[in-house]
Amino acid sequence: MNFIILTLFPDMISSMFGNGVLKRAVDNGGIAVTPVNIRDFAEGKHRITDDRPYGGGCGMVMKPEPITAAIRSAKKEFPEAYTILLTPQGRIFNQKVARDLLQHKTLILICGRYEGVDERIREEWVNDEVSIGDYILTGGEPAALVIVDAVSRLIPGVLGGESSAEEDSFSDGLLEYPHYTRPRSFEGAEVPNILLSGDHEKIRQWRRKSSLMRTLLKRPELLESSSLSAEDIELLEELDLRIKKVLQKYPGNDM
Ligand code: SAM
Repeated sequence: MNFIILTLFPDMISSMFGNGVLKRAVDNGGIAVTPVNIRDFAEGKHRITDDRPYGGGCGMVMKPEPITAAIRSAKKEFPEAYTILLTPQGRIFNQKVARDLLQHKTLILICGRYEGVDERIREEWVNDEVSIGDYILTGGEPAALVIVDAVSRLIPGVLGGESSAEEDSFSDGLLEYPHYTRPRSFEGAEVPNILLSGDHEKIRQWRRKSSLMRTLLKRPELLESSSLSAEDIELLEELDLRIKKVLQKYPGNDM
């Protein structure tokens, strides 16, 4: 999968791919990440990329010409590219959006700065607008990096063990179960015995139950939209009265 990131600060992007899983993914050819400096497409001696807003007001606006030229150049090579504007006004990014984006072979991510980009870019070129949350960042680069990271780890082969992405929080609508590693006893805190039992079925059930419990306690709203199996419902029934309240929302459940 190709990620083409249009930015005024390409170094911010490159630094993210020098380590860990994402570096390996780039090295293996699983992903290609190309930071494109918008300034390289600006004309004139000073290569100006922003200007004052029409109508007055504070702040600067990113000019349409350099961004258009950068998009045209990317589209020449990847005509099918799907173009995303990073903006706090976009749809909120989550695991489902990450999975949706997997269907595209090439993403062009436009990082705004200042007051944002000239509206005509959105009207003419943008297929999708994505926000990483209801807060305002200084620029779109952190948002682009969040998207590249979350989408990349869903690409088969990018993570060493294929199953890890499937078991991650949100992949099936629930938060993931807790993890433990050695030592077995750490400053008086013990690893739950069941994880040492070697009984794979019991461990699976314990993990599922923990996952349901955590979701209920930390993010109960997720339970309402996740598809629970009959076994999940049974596991939930074993839990306390707080859970019963949530179960009432499931059609077909008599509780
Ligand atoms: N004036 C804009 C508004 O109120 O909608 C905010 C501009 S912000 C200071 C500069 C740039 O940062 C935006 O153009 C966008 O690319 C990026 N940005 C800021 N917050 C973001 C968010 N929550 N998600 C995605 N991108 C964001």
